[in-house]
Amino acid sequence: GNLDPADRALIERRAKVLGPAYRLFYEEPLHLVRGEGAWVWDKAGKKYLDAYNNVASMGHCHPHVVQAISAQLGVLNTHTRYLHDGVVSYAERLLATMPDALGHVMFTCTGSEANDLALRIARSYTRRQGVIVTRLAYHGLSESISELSPSLGDFVSRGPRVRLIDAPNALTVPPEKQGAKLAADLAEAIAAMRKDGIEPAAFIVDTVFSSDGLYPDPAGFLKPAVDLIRAEGGLFIADEVQPGFARTGEAWWGFQRHGLVPDMVTMGKPMGNGFPVSGTAMQPHLVAEFGEKARYFNTFGGNPVAAAAGMAVMDVIETEGLLENASRVGAHLKAGLEDIAAAREDIAQVRGAGLFLAVECVGEDNSPDAARARFVVNHLRRNGVLISATGPGANILKIRPPLILSEAEADHFIAATRSAFAAS
Ligand code: PMP
Repeated sequence: GNLDPADRALIERRAKVLGPAYRLFYEEPLHLVRGEGAWVWDKAGKKYLDAYNNVASMGHCHPHVVQAISAQLGVLNTHTRYLHDGVVSYAERLLATMPDALGHVMFTCTGSEANDLALRIARSYTRRQGVIVTRLAYHGLSESISELSPSLGDFVSRGPRVRLIDAPNALTVPPEKQGAKLAADLAEAIAAMRKDGIEPAAFIVDTVFSSDGLYPDPAGFLKPAVDLIRAEGGLFIADEVQPGFARTGEAWWGFQRHGLVPDMVTMGKPMGNGFPVSGTAMQPHLVAEFGEKARYFNTFGGNPVAAAAGMAVMDVIETEGLLENASRVGAHLKAGLEDIAAAREDIAQVRGAGLFLAVECVGEDNSPDAARARFVVNHLRRNGVLISATGPGANILKIRPPLILSEAEADHFIAATRSAFAAS
């Protein structure tokens, strides 16, 4: 290929020191050096529209966030065992975006840690062990949470405490049946678990089912399953790492689209726009005993810089009207992709909510067409647009631009995608 010799050398050095567990995107990996707004630049000065990165949701290097982090870093950074207004004000402001029942929030540094904490609290509160997740879920990387991340593959053990159920499938299950199907599958998993003497502690889902292939609709379909897990004595944990912080354009949180009040909510990724900030919000009764007997101290979690980053992200979402922008530009982007799909047999569906969209590439009888998805991803990359593919068949284009995306940038994306499909 055209790989620069210096990059080839860097890839070798990288493998030598980082070891074999890391993956690079693309056959010819991208060497990025700078970002601004929806764009990133490689070392040769070529720019790319970043339609994949849901961490820099406010746009790369958003000046308000950079300023807030830098200013606090120059004043004080310490842990949560001293009084500091930052973490308290941030917690108040964050909880104000959620239903009143979610009365506490605890801070961590990664989404995995937020889920790990939620799992510990769920197991200690219910005095039960069982957890149900979807078949291709990803909830994180710790030893306990990788058990809940079947998308990591079979090498990662799951043990008898974790059961998998089908994620919604928008091609095979009609919208009005999604809710009943999910609840019936959950009931079956609970029954199977009980046969092994394990009681359900929690049902954990990403409320837009990102790694399963993106299934946000119809809003409300999660409710029967959530009612069921509670009737069976378990908790409902909403993993908002992907849909949270206005991504869906309709609400701050994915669970709100389903008219639900979770027992716990976990969040991360865009929470600090790149600064590691994550957290677990919960109904207070769940953590009363845990708080008293186990305590919780996370060295970096909720530090003054993290709180400043989190505050700044909330400022940007509010002052720049990003919920509204995600909804408006997301609808525009979706319409453009639907227009491409209308003329093609090889796109089964365009779906999504706000600025999180999926395009499902298929062959005959809707069979997954991973090769076409891969072709489109690579063609887009050559033309300066970054996305990826997901789902069990690796055939679902995953499109997740920053929430500051303009209509002109959406048009640029649509045009590039049209040429990629035309060339495929
Ligand atoms: N939950 C979901 C839904 C995620 O997508 C991810 C990260 N891809 C995580 C949890 C884990 O977050 P982190 O990588 O910050 O540990």
